[in-house]
Amino acid sequence: MKRCEECYQTFKWDEDVVNVNDDYYHKNCVEMVPVEHVAYVNGEYIGVVEYEDMACFILDTDDYLEDVSNA
Ligand SMILES: [Zn+2]
Repeated sequence: MKRCEECYQTFKWDEDVVNVNDDYYHKNCVEMVPVEHVAYVNGEYIGVVEYEDMACFILDTDDYLEDVSNA
């Protein structure tokens, strides 16, 4: 029987359940934030925007230019 990954209670037939990355949760056990932005390039949808502040937080060092303006 499936259990909520947050509260570990089994689901009842009339409870609202959400599937997140193949894990199941009560709808009330998760905070759901509406996706605010999707990205388009030249009018073509490319995906959902997930905010990360700076390239250095999400990319490997080789994947972005170091700031050399103050060097
Ligand atoms: Zn739950």
